[in-house]
Amino acid sequence: MNYLGKIRAQSSAEAIYRRRSSPQKTQKSKKIIVAGGAGFLGSHLCETLLQAGHQVVCLDNFSTGLRRNIAHLERFDTFKVIAHDIVQPFDLKVDEIYNLACPASPPHYQLDPIHTTKTCVLGSLNLLELASRTGARILQASTSEVYGDPNVHPQIESYWGNVNPFGPRSCYDEGKRCAETLFFDFHKKLQVEVKVVRIFNTYGPRMRPDDGRVVSNFIVQALTGQDITIYGDGSQTRSFCFVDDLVEGFLRMMASPPSLTGPVNLGNPGEFTIGELAEQVIGMTGSRSKIIHHPLPTDDPRQRRPDISLATQELGWRPHVDLAQGLVQTIDHFGRLLARPTRELAEAM
Ligand code: NAD
Ligand code: UDP
Repeated sequence: MNYLGKIRAQSSAEAIYRRRSSPQKTQKSKKIIVAGGAGFLGSHLCETLLQAGHQVVCLDNFSTGLRRNIAHLERFDTFKVIAHDIVQPFDLKVDEIYNLACPASPPHYQLDPIHTTKTCVLGSLNLLELASRTGARILQASTSEVYGDPNVHPQIESYWGNVNPFGPRSCYDEGKRCAETLFFDFHKKLQVEVKVVRIFNTYGPRMRPDDGRVVSNFIVQALTGQDITIYGDGSQTRSFCFVDDLVEGFLRMMASPPSLTGPVNLGNPGEFTIGELAEQVIGMTGSRSKIIHHPLPTDDPRQRRPDISLATQELGWRPHVDLAQGLVQTIDHFGRLLARPTRELAEAM
């Protein structure tokens, strides 16, 4: 078996092990809202919660989420999809709420920045009020972007960050910071059981080909023979977490004692330059694409790596899938997607 084959076999064996050993399987069935459940991360979370025997209500406005991400879940009679924008209030008695609703890719969240801020702030407010009314526990998908272009490296939860309040990324960064403020004030003033996780760059199957984030861009470009677009000189760094690892972190955080509110970093501490990522994708796909450089976007963070001591200590969590293993599964996903006839592919996007 060649190098790629070995990694592929190891990756799928580990993925099956992790799914089977999900910590929630022995718990009693709960009714759970996943806001943003049709998105990349949300669809994996819905799937895992349904497999663990819970009832799941997916709330989504389908701005970046896709029907096809959740189509295979419709066979569960414990799964319900409601088209809803969380900027508007929502009412339903549930046990838990995961708030993942928000576009996450820079080109997507910058498309309608006012609506992105509304989603982060008004959307969080509406879901927190629902949690307060119903006694539900609520988890917020916050982000490493709250650290902005960080002056402290690796980033630890106690670092306050270095964020531009009016640049092109601000709608997202400041929106998510304000959402954290709301979460902790609802906890302090109204005793809502909150959980805040700060997610670092996460990738995997079900990312959209037109998502615009670096992993999906490089893989799609490599598989279709287009130029690989590095923004800037490629020396900026990111840490890439595979989706299965992150979902495990979500579950552990939600199941943690009420005293653990967070914020807790969830990410893979392996740190790579964007240039290294491009070389790795080219090597793994055997692509003949060439690397070209585009200008670095305004306020693009120079470096990013999570300090995950808190998650390891409090949740017993650490990622298991390294970049090469995760890329195999992600390349497989895009390979299958791009092999579809053009019309079918357009409908699927
Ligand atoms: P995504 O764009 O694939 O998913 C977001 C989902 O939210 C989509 O289904 C979208 O249609 C839905 N949505 C957006 N605005 C909404 C609104 N106003 N009302 C209802 N639904 C709405 O992105 P993702 O990568 O799956 O990210 C999910 C969450 O995790 C986001 O909140 C994001 O900020 C956070 N996060 C992700 C990453 C990452 O690397 N993937 C990193 C940090 C934080
Ligand atoms: N990037 C790149 N080429 C692309 C897309 C992104 O070089 O085609 C860079 C981007 O400038 C950033 C890094 O890759 O430095 C990660 O970008 P992404 O949008 O995935 O996530 P974020 O910037 O939000 O961490």
